[in-house]
Amino acid sequence: MRLDALAFGAHADDVELACGGTIIKLAGLGYKTGVITLTQGEMGSRGSAEVRAREFSKSAEIMGLITHQMLDLPDGRIEVTWENKLKIIDEIRVHQPRIILAPYWVERHPDHEQASRLVRESAYLAGLKKVDTGHHAFRPHKVIFYQGRFDFQPSFIVNISDVQAQKMKAIRAYRSQFHGRNRAPSDSEETSISRPEFLASIETRDKRYGVAIGVKYGEPFLVREALKVDDPVAFFGPEYLWTIP
Ligand SMILES: [Zn+2]
Repeated sequence: MRLDALAFGAHADDVELACGGTIIKLAGLGYKTGVITLTQGEMGSRGSAEVRAREFSKSAEIMGLITHQMLDLPDGRIEVTWENKLKIIDEIRVHQPRIILAPYWVERHPDHEQASRLVRESAYLAGLKKVDTGHHAFRPHKVIFYQGRFDFQPSFIVNISDVQAQKMKAIRAYRSQFHGRNRAPSDSEETSISRPEFLASIETRDKRYGVAIGVKYGEPFLVREALKVDDPVAFFGPEYLWTIP
C-alpha cells in the first residue's frame, strides 16, 4: 500500500523519540504512515532483539502506523554499502512514500550517521530506472531530517501539542529501554536512556521547540533545500507575532 510518510530509524525507538509526535499527528490527519528500522537492535545494552520487536509492534499500534518493519542490517555496524542501499531502495519503491523522515547526519551513534546517508542516497537512487530491485523506480518528494542527540537550526517545527501525551505513551512502550514500572529483572542495569531524567529531557525538548513557534510542544525538522513560499503575506499569519525574537 502507498504511504504518505515513511520514517526510517537505525534502531527501534529512534523515530518515536525524535518525531513520534509528528507521525501520530499525520496518522490523525488521515495520512498513511510507516516506520522502518534498519537493524533489529540486537546490540542494545538492555532487552533482546525479540523483546525490542514486541515493543516496536506495541509502539506502532499506539502511533497508528499502517506498516512497521525491521530490516536486518547489523546493529552497531551499519555501513554505507551498495547492498544496504538496495534493501532501502526496494522498501522505498514498495511503499512509495510522498515524504521520507531520516536521522540528522550529525549524531553521536555511528549507526545514526550511516543511516542518515544511506536513506538520503537511497531515496535519490530509488528514482533511477536502471537500478534494478524488481520493483518500479519511484522517488519521494522530499527527505526530511529529524533531530537526535545534537541540535540543528530547524527549517520548520511541527506543532505536536495535541499528541505529545500520545508520543510519550509510544515511547513508554519500550519498557526494556526506558524508565518505568514492570521492568524485567535482567534489565536492572541503568543506561544513559533508562534514567527518569532521559524521558523528562524529551518532554523538555518538545516544550522548547513548542515555545519557538508559540505553542506548547513542537518537533524540529531540517531540509537541505530552501522551502518554496508563493504568498509570504498569507504564509506568515498573526501567529508569527509570538515568534519574533
Ligand atoms: Zn538509535
